[in-house]
Parts: sequence; C-alpha cells; structure tokens
Amino acid sequence: MKHINKEKPVLVTGATGYVAGWLVKKLLEQGFTVHAPVRNPADKEKLQYLDAVASKTPGTIKYFKADLLKPGSYDEAMQECELVFHTASPFINTVKDAQRDLVEPALTGTKNVLESVNKTGSVKRVVLTSSVAAIIGDAADCLNYPNGAATEAYWNTTSTVNHMPYNYSKTVAEQAAWEINKKQDRWDLVVINPSLVIGPGLNPFATSESFNIVRQIGDGSMRFGIPDLSIGVVDVRDIADAHFLAGYTPAATGRHIISTQNINLLELANMLRKRYGNAYPFPTRFLPKSLVWLLAPLAGFKRKMIARNVGYAWKVDNTKSIKELGIHYRPVEESIVEMFQQMLDSGMVKK
Ligand code: NAP
Repeated sequence: MKHINKEKPVLVTGATGYVAGWLVKKLLEQGFTVHAPVRNPADKEKLQYLDAVASKTPGTIKYFKADLLKPGSYDEAMQECELVFHTASPFINTVKDAQRDLVEPALTGTKNVLESVNKTGSVKRVVLTSSVAAIIGDAADCLNYPNGAATEAYWNTTSTVNHMPYNYSKTVAEQAAWEINKKQDRWDLVVINPSLVIGPGLNPFATSESFNIVRQIGDGSMRFGIPDLSIGVVDVRDIADAHFLAGYTPAATGRHIISTQNINLLELANMLRKRYGNAYPFPTRFLPKSLVWLLAPLAGFKRKMIARNVGYAWKVDNTKSIKELGIHYRPVEESIVEMFQQMLDSGMVKK
C-alpha cells in the first residue's frame, strides 16, 4: 500500500510517445511537476505538443537527456520523484533486427530504469507500461484459456525473437521488471497491460505502430479486403487514466489488462464507414486466409504469424481494470473516428 506525495515531481519516460502524451497532459492539468527524460531535449519540434499543453496548464514540465540503452541516464531526472511511469519502449512491427530494435530497448531499457530506481531512495512506486502482448503471443493461444479469454494470470509463452518479436520484447521486459522488484521492498510495481491503443494523439505524428494500423484501414491499403485478425482496442485517454490511477491508488497491485473491447479489423472499418460512408476506400470483406498466408512475405509478415493469428478469436477479460482501478471505457466507435479524423486533418490520410 503506497501513498504517493502529489507535491513531489513525477517521472515519465517516453513522454514524447503516443501513449505517454495524454498521461503527461493529465498530470500537467492537475498541477504536477513532470520530469521528462527524452532522447533529444533540443528537438523543439518533437516537444512542441507537450510545451503547448504545459503553457496552458498549472503544471510544469522539465526535460532531461536520457536513453534507454545508457545505464544511469535516468538518475538525474529521478531525483526527488516518488513515482516513476516507465512507458518508453519501441512499438514497431517492421524491424530489420528484432533483437537490436525491439528487445534491447525494451529489456535493457527496463533494467536501466529500474537500476536508477534502486539507486534513488525517494521512489516508492513504479508504473510500468507493458502490454497484452506480454499475456498473449498469438490469437491461437486463446484456445488454451477458460472461455477463450486471457486474464492477468497468464503469460505469453509462444513468442520468440523470431516469431512475434514485439510481443517477446514486452514479455521479457515485464518479467525482468517483476524479478528486479521482488529483490527489494522499498518500491512496488504496478503494471498496465494495454491492448491496441487508438484515439487521437497529442502528437499526431508519434512513431507508434497504432497510427500505421489505423491509417491502413482507411488509406486504400486494404481496399480489396482485410485479414480476419481479431484484437483488443482501447482509447489512448483511457490508457492515461489507467496509468494515473495505477500511480495514485494506494491499493493498486499487480498487472492490469486495459482493453475496451475484443473486436476484429473489419468491425473497426465498418465503424469508419458508418461515419464517412464510402468517401474513403475502407475494406468491405475479409481476405481468404490462404491468400493472406501466400502474400504475407510481400507485406513484411511471417507466414507463421498469419497461420497462428488470422481466423482465431483473440480475447481478454478486462474485469480487474473496472473493479480495481475503476476505469470507465470510452466507446470504440468514438475513438476510431476521432483518430481517423485527426489523420485526415493532419494530412496523414489524403482527403
Ligand atoms: P511511440 O509513440 O513510438 O512511443 C515510444 C516512446 O519510447 C517514445 O517516446 C520514444 O522516444 C521512446 N523510446 C524509444 N526508444 C527509446 C530509447 N532508446 N531511449 C529512450 N526513449 C526511447 O509508441 P507508443 O505506442 O506510445 O508506445 C509507448 C509504450 O506503450 C510502449 O511501452 C509500448 O510497448 C506500450 N504499448 C503501446 C500500445 C499501442 O497500441 N500503442 C499497446 C500496448 C502497449 P523518442 O521520441 O525519442 O523516439
């Protein structure tokens, strides 16, 4: 049971990212001092969205220079903080070298941040942004769970650096975090496991794979059909609330699946069609699995990924997030439409 002093600064890694943006906004609106270690504090263009929020809110943001791969680089930013939100980690599906581009920053980054936590006596709680990817590897894994739906009790045991490497990176990083946490009792660890995050970005050009996935539903990439992939989705502002509640609810403990709805990609496309009609080339049908399997390498996907995900029901149970954190989920339709509208407004998808 950790009570966090709200007068103390709070550290957010990855503040420039899609997921962290709305959390930083929430903290600034409530008057917190946010310590934001970023890779390049001189990159004014990247920081403009956070600066704009800070200029209109009672809180203060202070930037520090840090890199996940550099030991000790979070030490300075962590001074005086009682609460650390560790969100920074790459979310990209297409990488040249999965070990270097995904696993290293996720795993080494988590170890480095937690090493700084171990050295910084003020820290009482760490909220780690993990993922449902650390719970489910492939949709086919859901066949093993009661009612076909995973809970926080499960771990992803099927991903490797060669198969679903992003999921693997999140699994090994979260496992390392629990191991480090268990070796001491000064700070506790509360984990947020979001499904696919959607909704408008504070920074409409963040690097998150979330933008690519939603963009491809509307930019014509899927006009001839969409793979029958089912996923979970959740609004980026609900994710910010979940992090905030995980940080400042003294009794919060363990992992938390944060996911509004289990859905498939065609249902998401249909929500956009309901709003925009046929003004954009949204897919209208599923592609046959055999065709998706055949063409997968051309689109940069491995055939094993298609074999174990297309056509399977992917499901999680979000009960804990509602009962223990008190999350109120926004309707998915609202989130997907607002995100797509932002893509139109920013020129990411052509009108
Ligand atoms: P994002 O927009 O690409 O943000 C990634 C953040 O990590 C950026 O702030 C980036 O900083 C930082 N980062 C990456 N490599 C770094 C390094 N070597 N050193 C320091 N910082 C580094 O992606 P996101 O979707 O917001 O993801 C944020 C977190 O949410 C990740 O932990 C991800 O696994 C988790 N998550 C995301 C989703 C989703 O659907 N989006 C779902 C579940 C979990 P720069 O600005 O310097 O690049």
